[in-house]
Amino acid sequence: MTPDAGSLAAPPVAPLTVPYDDLFWRDEYEPITESDDELARIVERADLPALLAALAAALGDPSILEGDLRPPLTVVDTYAQPHGGMTPVQVDRARSVALAALRRLRAGAIRSVGVLPAEQVDAILDFLTNGQPEYWPSLKHELDLAPDKNGTPGFTYADVAGDREFSVLVVGTGVSGIAASYRLLQAGVPFTVIEEAPELGGTWWKNRYPGVRLDTPTFGYSYSFAQKTDWPHQFAEGAEIRDYLVEVADRAGITERIEFGTRFESARWDEEAAQWVVALAGPHGTEERRFHAVISALGQLDRPHIPDFPGLETFAGRAVHSQDWDETVDTSGKRVVVIGTGASAYQIVPAIYEEVAQLTVFQRSAPWMIPADSYHEPMTETFDWLQRKVPYHGQWFRLWTVLLGIPGRFHTVTAEEGWHGVPLSVSAKNHEVREALIARMAEQYRDRPELLELAIPNYPPGAKRMLRDNGVWAEAMQAPRTTVVSSGVGRITPEGVVDGDGVLHEADVIVFATGFKASDFLDGIEVFGRRGVELHDYWAGDSRAYNGIAVPGFPNFFLIYGPNVNGVVAGSGHLMMERAAEYAVRAVGELLRRGARSLDVTEAATDRFVSWVDAGNRRMAWGQDYISNWYQNAAGRVVTIWPYTNVEYWAATETIADGDYTFD
Ligand code: NAP
Repeated sequence: MTPDAGSLAAPPVAPLTVPYDDLFWRDEYEPITESDDELARIVERADLPALLAALAAALGDPSILEGDLRPPLTVVDTYAQPHGGMTPVQVDRARSVALAALRRLRAGAIRSVGVLPAEQVDAILDFLTNGQPEYWPSLKHELDLAPDKNGTPGFTYADVAGDREFSVLVVGTGVSGIAASYRLLQAGVPFTVIEEAPELGGTWWKNRYPGVRLDTPTFGYSYSFAQKTDWPHQFAEGAEIRDYLVEVADRAGITERIEFGTRFESARWDEEAAQWVVALAGPHGTEERRFHAVISALGQLDRPHIPDFPGLETFAGRAVHSQDWDETVDTSGKRVVVIGTGASAYQIVPAIYEEVAQLTVFQRSAPWMIPADSYHEPMTETFDWLQRKVPYHGQWFRLWTVLLGIPGRFHTVTAEEGWHGVPLSVSAKNHEVREALIARMAEQYRDRPELLELAIPNYPPGAKRMLRDNGVWAEAMQAPRTTVVSSGVGRITPEGVVDGDGVLHEADVIVFATGFKASDFLDGIEVFGRRGVELHDYWAGDSRAYNGIAVPGFPNFFLIYGPNVNGVVAGSGHLMMERAAEYAVRAVGELLRRGARSLDVTEAATDRFVSWVDAGNRRMAWGQDYISNWYQNAAGRVVTIWPYTNVEYWAATETIADGDYTFD
């Protein structure tokens, strides 16, 4: 690549204006025509804090949120508490308040709601958060009705750039790439977005294995700027999220800007021009193009890891990694071996075990599973009624879901110094959770003690990513045609997989549910920053980025969902990705506003950030010396995981602070 090659190219953008900053905003809801009895039945089944918030907002009357009704927001150990932990007395009272308010809504034929006065927003948030104002800024990001809903770029290109030429490359069209594209559109910054695949959706386009779905609640997994509320499932199926992402990109006008089938091969910083010279391999070969900034939205979990098992290449049947599954993979009536018991296997196995001729599951470590009875359930009829008829109810429920996730399960996975239960638990609470989860498994495997023994993990809860359990995994493990192998993979032969005891498990299909090269960010892509330093050489196996976004010596280069920002026991990952995308766009705005050509994060700011997240991760079950997981790099440092809540990330990404960057 020659440093002066390539042309500056990004189509101009007319700033996108979206009412309420929500592509799914609804002006009017359906009329309430139900009788009092019918309304009482709805209230009986509704989630009360979200409903009360919606009613207070629609009536413009926060006085219905009586002080005694505040949900206590009980922390969740194993089972989630309904209504945010409200007591039975509170529930009773809340129901009669909600019923009276619904009648008022019906009597007043109130079918819409708009931006609320700031004090009403604060009163409702005060109620929902049980008086925790530190949550409010991130919640206002999600709240169309807040006059200070935040998230929009806060500048327009025309205002800050004048007639200066500037263009941004967005790499990838998963959740992060679409978020970045949307915010750039709003600001009117010229950009190009590329996608290697033929369609958008990132991980949700790639992962099509049987059973693929969200394993976190659907209502905590959508854009603040595209608040869909008619989701069919409590934990959305993969195709539902894919369709949603397509719809968001269409509504925003992003789709027509995507260059599909185009791969980001390499980038080289041209110091003199203050531009990235990027090699893009597309349908017409590789070409070099120049951009002033690059936003990499490549994600953490997209480069499959297939262990180097001896004899791997000799297998005569079909071998497929979970992410590469497509419609040509047929397991029906076949002998199937699944290697791995992580989140992907955990969805594949229950989806196929009844239709295969024989299933062998190779388990190296048993997974911890958190109870989630509604894991495969549709949204309820009651919820559907509420999201159609009570103005903005679905969005309040979404906000409530995000809010409940903020404190998450940290208290169950934080290590206690000197705890005697190591290496099976990290604290008294962690031990308590361990015992509760084992009791649940004992019930599930009551007739199969030999399988129960295999099902109990030999490491603390939270040391690896915990899965959602409604009992289907245990059912699949005990099915007559299923065999669980725990002696390891010895080798692969043309006929199948030989286990650690030398027993051959014949197979027509081998599924590698063996995970991803998560700690190798931008694996396979060369990025040469200042003084020609290559990003992976700079990292030397230890990926680090300020706020997970910026790397010293790589000016105007931003990572979304980069190192150390993946939350695993708390908070909305979706919100983290959006926030990082917004930060990158705000950084571009700041650059333009200052008339600078580049901004480069300092080593000091990066070191400070890395020390902070390291300290956090060291306190967690997953950061203990005796644990190994995909969160860590080869040296054992946790490089993928965010050890705090959304609130801390919010604060960390509040400003593009002067001392943290040099502007040239
Ligand atoms: P994973 O969690 O890394 O699981 C890989 C599995 O393969 C583990 O059971 C691992 O055992 C096993 N394995 C790896 N190397 C092995 C070897 N040499 N021999 C035997 N077994 C081996 O990968 P994943 O299941 O694809 O999930 C990765 C992440 O993707 C998840 O944690 C989650 O963040 C995300 N994900 C999300 C969803 C969702 O939201 N619905 C679904 C799927 C994935 P060990 O545990 O012993 O290492």
